[in-house]
Amino acid sequence: MGESMNTTDLEKSTDYDRLVTKFGLSYLRNIMKRIKNPHTWIRREIIFAHRDFDKILDLREKGKRFSVVSGRGPSNKIHLGHLGVFSVVKWIQDEYDAEVYIPLSDDEKYVFRKINGLRDALYYAYDNALDIAALGYKTKITHFFVSTKYPPLYEYSVRLSRYTTFSTIKAIFGFTHDTNPGAIFYPIVQSAHILLPTIEKGLPVVVPIAIDQDPYIRLTRDIAERLDYFKPAALHSKFLSGLDGKPMSASKPETAIFTDDDNKTIKRKIWKALTGGQGTLAKQRKFGGNPDKCVVYEWFRAYSLRSDDDLKIIYNECKSGDRFCGQCKKELTKDIITILKEHRKKKMELINKIDQFFLHDVDMDIINKIAEHLEKIVVNANE
Ligand code: SF4
Repeated sequence: MGESMNTTDLEKSTDYDRLVTKFGLSYLRNIMKRIKNPHTWIRREIIFAHRDFDKILDLREKGKRFSVVSGRGPSNKIHLGHLGVFSVVKWIQDEYDAEVYIPLSDDEKYVFRKINGLRDALYYAYDNALDIAALGYKTKITHFFVSTKYPPLYEYSVRLSRYTTFSTIKAIFGFTHDTNPGAIFYPIVQSAHILLPTIEKGLPVVVPIAIDQDPYIRLTRDIAERLDYFKPAALHSKFLSGLDGKPMSASKPETAIFTDDDNKTIKRKIWKALTGGQGTLAKQRKFGGNPDKCVVYEWFRAYSLRSDDDLKIIYNECKSGDRFCGQCKKELTKDIITILKEHRKKKMELINKIDQFFLHDVDMDIINKIAEHLEKIVVNANE
């Protein structure tokens, strides 16, 4: 949620224990026994903390249903980091029969000046929806909506606005007198996104977020409490590294791999990735590498087809100097090319069905443009 907002006092810290303490979160490992068939991101502790997910499990064990809300700011293509998050959301849907809501916040991208016009965001909104739906979501219990195309959202936002203050929002988001009023109102719209399943269907909600976004959820929880709604629960992930070792960002294309990157681009990007290798084969043989500080190894854990046993082998071979970075990069490239080839096929199959996932009419002219582009990339990708 709120990808383009700037946090003021939130550290992009990897001292996760400190953030868990500071935000008053709980570790997922403490409730792992209650989570059957955990997603690889949960098993591998990429998603590692939570707020009230135990309460969601309590409700589910009593036969009650719940919803997952996971938003996407449509100002760019979808990359592997986004796909990873939405594969967790899909796992929640499959595992707990959860109803999924995916707000596509064209309004957010517009007011924060990440796109020039709302129609540009609409193209990305539908394109992103196709990428997300291609992960295998169930039509009847998955609902996409573009913020400005779903009028009830405005009513919900206005209703919620009475339950917070400008100073609360200012303290969280760091707005100033120069901030445009659309941006100031947007946090309330985001709260309406999150509470929409509660408002419309009385469903409790869980939201997967990166750990630094926890203050945004707290705003919505405060509003929910005042309205006597179930306070939205959250699942917190660690920061995802880009190929250069810095945070992955769609606005820095070389740090991420997008679903429409062709094979040559994927190879080129991974070849430049930051590793924990020693720099020379002789040193690597002698001292071994450092997989704990290696983006390629992190990506094996997050995005590859590798089992836990495979990962152990890679880890141990690296440490003992029996594995070299070139080999890892080749294997990771092969995995990602295989994953994306299959992904694009599924995306293409959804072109004529994507409207079934939306809470409002879909602009078929835009969908047709996406289909034309997709046909080209399917051909180019394999060259
Ligand atoms: Fe990373 Fe593989 Fe190099 Fe080890 S050998 S540092 S795991 S790329």
